[in-house]
Amino acid sequence: MSQAQRASWDEYFMSIAQVVATRSTCPRKFVGAVIVGSRTILSTGYNGSIRGMPHCSDVGHMMEDGHCVATIHAETNAILQAAKNGVVIAGATLYVTASPCWNCFKQVANAGLVRICYGEFYRDTRSFDVARQIGLELVHIPLPGVSLPAAPPLPPG
Ligand SMILES: [Zn+2]
Ligand SMILES: [Zn+2]
Repeated sequence: MSQAQRASWDEYFMSIAQVVATRSTCPRKFVGAVIVGSRTILSTGYNGSIRGMPHCSDVGHMMEDGHCVATIHAETNAILQAAKNGVVIAGATLYVTASPCWNCFKQVANAGLVRICYGEFYRDTRSFDVARQIGLELVHIPLPGVSLPAAPPLPPG
């Protein structure tokens, strides 16, 4: 393979985040996250229920204000997996297939991550303003092409 065809590190880790997303158990939104330090995967996470609880894909969603609140989001799960295993993630980069919601963004910021690469824009713009203010790099890396199952359309209301 020529140098021109070789995936950049950002594309490489974003492709892995897309594969991680295929493990999501809430079909409203398939999201995958990979935390990387020194070009090494430190942790991964996907959108899913509390450990030991049934999956949305089996028992349905827990809806609140138009969102499913049954799940822990991918980027938060990646942070929690690092915490659970005692892995240092300060200074690391987060690759996530959809830009973080406001709650996840706050956790990513205070977990000491310094760079967020997101595959597609999702909903929240506040993170972009705050990222600038606190010097956290937030960059768009277009999803490299692993195709994911489509989420069903949102129910009315
Ligand atoms: Zn759900
Ligand atoms: Zn989130």
